[in-house]
Amino acid sequence: MPPKSPNCPECGSEKTVVIIYGIPGQGLLTNSKKSEFIIGGCEKSPDAPIYHCKRCKNEWGKLIDQPKYL
Ligand SMILES: [Zn+2]
Repeated sequence: MPPKSPNCPECGSEKTVVIIYGIPGQGLLTNSKKSEFIIGGCEKSPDAPIYHCKRCKNEWGKLIDQPKYL
């Protein structure tokens, strides 16, 4: 399962999603609700954001800190 996304540090909203890079595994797609994450494409930068706020569009976190679960 994807990690639970934290509240937005900018607006405090709980409506945040995890940004997933690369090709999600089949299990991830099957076991997760689509609203819980968005696909960020094949970004390779370790500084790429990993969380996205649906309320204020803020993105934060670093890809290099994202737990490996795929
Ligand atoms: Zn926000």
